[in-house]
Amino acid sequence: MNAEIIAVGSELLTPTKLDTNSLWLTDQLNTLGIEVVQKTIVGDERARLAAVISGALERSDLVLITGGLGPTEDDVTRDAVCLALGRCQQFRQELCDQIAARFARIKRPMAEINKRQAFLIDGAEALPNERGTAPGQWLAVGAKAIALLPGPPGELKGLWAAEVLRRVTAMVPPLHIATAHFRVAGMGESDLDALIAPAYTRYTNPVTTILAAPGDVHIHLRARCAEQAEAEALVTELGAQVRELLGDRIYSEDGADLETVAGRLLRARGESLSVAESMTGGMLGQRITSVPNSSDYFRGGFLTYTNEMKHSLLGVPEAMLAQYTAVSEQVAIAMAQGARERTRSTWALSVTGYAGPAGENVGNVYLGIASPTMAEARHIQFGFDRNRIRNMSATTALDWLRKHLK
Ligand code: AMP
Ligand code: MG
Repeated sequence: MNAEIIAVGSELLTPTKLDTNSLWLTDQLNTLGIEVVQKTIVGDERARLAAVISGALERSDLVLITGGLGPTEDDVTRDAVCLALGRCQQFRQELCDQIAARFARIKRPMAEINKRQAFLIDGAEALPNERGTAPGQWLAVGAKAIALLPGPPGELKGLWAAEVLRRVTAMVPPLHIATAHFRVAGMGESDLDALIAPAYTRYTNPVTTILAAPGDVHIHLRARCAEQAEAEALVTELGAQVRELLGDRIYSEDGADLETVAGRLLRARGESLSVAESMTGGMLGQRITSVPNSSDYFRGGFLTYTNEMKHSLLGVPEAMLAQYTAVSEQVAIAMAQGARERTRSTWALSVTGYAGPAGENVGNVYLGIASPTMAEARHIQFGFDRNRIRNMSATTALDWLRKHLK
């Protein structure tokens, strides 16, 4: 289905006044899947406007006209539509009463000329205008339709939402929607966009949206088509390219968050997890236990902020802490091993680092992981924001575990 917009008003042909209504209407129509194939700006001149309306109705399924519904002699839209269609218009007392009531509400006298706005084109429905005096009109012409809408943008938008939107929607064959949702950890939004933009920018359908939280990016694909199978095929086609480009950085395709995905993997393998946290102060444990039934696989955690606690609770050797400091590869590994042995879990994760904001090594983080067959550490240098460092550390640790479990 296609549409055409006619903006009426001689002021719109001057160098100073922009036709913004048609941009707004185009956006509204596009969201309904309706393409705008032509738009025209016409001065306040009856014959010229009538000619444009005739042409528009031949070319297009829906014609939206804005402006020229005012009470003065230069407002000619109603007359021009009548001329184009060979129809008459009739004075309607009930419309006149509504206009009079509006003037009464704003405590101003109604001028005689406002009665011009109470004329309804034969066969048209009046569209009450809550924000102004001129009612809009909706006119079905065979399978096509013409809408006469007020020029002031506020009135146009109000009338569109209250009266026009549902009439236009009823003309559109129902659209079928297919979606895909990828979640990606361990990549910034701009790096991710640079990687997948060459694929998704070739498609206007599906529409791709990218939403980012620190270390966690959502990619939504949404296709709208006349047929469900067609929408699904488009999402599958672009989805395959996104999957190819991102590989195992995609951690879920059903909306599940990282802690849920890691939990599913642990449960499927019948394995368990514990954590040893310093800098994240329990954030890892909090996230893991936010998942219902995490007790199926989560054994518990150690919140060891000081060296003394790392030693007494996790058995990290004092000499190691003295030699390498608490933020080191050695200590990260020892923390993970200590947690694993003490809880008898299959896996253990550890986090130690400097979250700042003060100090030289802000953002310097070591993650540790231990299993029955291995123990390793990973160094990451984050930026300077304390919250971000802590969040990203927890996210990166969970994602690292996920990759080991896969
Ligand atoms: P009208 O309905 O023609 O009396 O228009 C009333 C006022 O609405 C005009 O003076 C403009 O300020 C505004 N207007 C009319 N058409 C447009 C348009 N296409 N875009 C933006 N503003 C408009
Ligand atoms: Mg005007």
